[in-house]
This record gives sequence, C-alpha cells and structure tokens, in this order.
Amino acid sequence: MTTTVNLSRIHFPVTTLGPGRRIGIWFQGCSIRCPGCISMDTWTHGRGTTTIAEVVDAISPWLSTADGITVSGGEPFDQREALFELLARLRALTAADILVFTGYPWITISEAISSRPPLIDAIVTEPFDIDERQTLALRGSDNQQLHMMTPLGRARFESFDRTIDESDRSFDVMFDENGDVWLAGIPARGDFRRLRNILEDGGSTLGISEDKRFPSH
Ligand code: SF4
Repeated sequence: MTTTVNLSRIHFPVTTLGPGRRIGIWFQGCSIRCPGCISMDTWTHGRGTTTIAEVVDAISPWLSTADGITVSGGEPFDQREALFELLARLRALTAADILVFTGYPWITISEAISSRPPLIDAIVTEPFDIDERQTLALRGSDNQQLHMMTPLGRARFESFDRTIDESDRSFDVMFDENGDVWLAGIPARGDFRRLRNILEDGGSTLGISEDKRFPSH
C-alpha cells in the first residue's frame, strides 16, 4: 500500500532553517492554530495530497548535495505515521541531518519519538506564542525548545542553542511557476508586514499568510 501525505511544498536549497543547504518539506494541515501564526495557508487539512513514494522521488535528485533536511508546516505530527515513514525512507537514503519543527509540546510527542529508531536529529517543540519574547535562534518565540536527539543532531545544532544575531535575520526567497514568491525563514515580529508596506509603497503587492487577528509586536 502506498501511504499518502498532505504537503504544502518542498524546496531546495533552504538556508535559513538550520545549517547548510537543506531540503525543506512543509506539511499541509495544522490543528494547533497558534494565534499570530505566519503560515495560516498551511492550516487546512486535506490539501496537497501526494504519496510518500512521490515525495521521495521528487527529493531524490537533491539528496547527494543536501547538508540537511528540514521538516516544518503546517504540523508534521498531525500526520505522524506518514511523517515517520517519510523520515525512515530519507534516513535510508542520506546521511544528511534531519530537523523537525512541531507546535506540539515536547511532553506529548517525546514517547512517539523515543519509541522509534532515531529518525530525528533535532526538533523544535512547543506552540508559537505571540506574547513571548523572541530572542533565541531557530525559534519564533522563547517558549519553544530545541532538543538535540542524536550525536549528529548535537554536532549540527549545538551552535543554534544561543540568542539570535544578525546572521539569523535572513529569508530564502522562492519563486513558483505561476509567479508567486514565497519566503522561508524565521521572521522577527512584524517583518512580513514591514516588507508588505515597503513593496506596496513601491507599487507592488504582497499577500501575507500571517494570522491578521493579532497585531505584530
Ligand atoms: S506556528 Fe506552526 S503549529 Fe502553530 S499554528 Fe502555525 S503552523 Fe501550526
């Protein structure tokens, strides 16, 4: 049987979500729905349906040159069987490190991770909290936790266990075939709205997928 998975997008290279040139995999569907999320376009479940085999085929040409794989969303653990099957397939194909972002608290997912072979090298847990400060690398709010799960994870991610600096203030810019532009990275509060205002002042338009019910801090 071919396992299905709902994805928002895949991209290579991504350079702002972990060390090196990385394959980015964004899951589609999030039941956590943090107030202030910047990725509301990934909340709806049931879109972007594909199969694990098709995803692996699409990613395979990048595996020989990728330093790592970053899985984000959406919420990867809302499709946890597909997530672990995909990670197992990728683990068998590459020595690249695997980083996962989840909005679930560590306490609710740690058993699911530790009861399986070590497929995740590092994981950022806990829901985004717009009322928290944002001073830590790889994290959108300071309640989020970076867990290094393997020796490879410690080697690759120990240097991210720090406060943010200027090197963290960057985005990857991706262009779709239909002309849409996507940004990847961890923005500071209000970055997307500032960018939208700058572009609009210059006569361009930018749609942002940020939760507009909450003001940027
Ligand atoms: S920040 Fe992540 S976990 Fe929270 S609503 Fe957005 S996609 Fe879901």
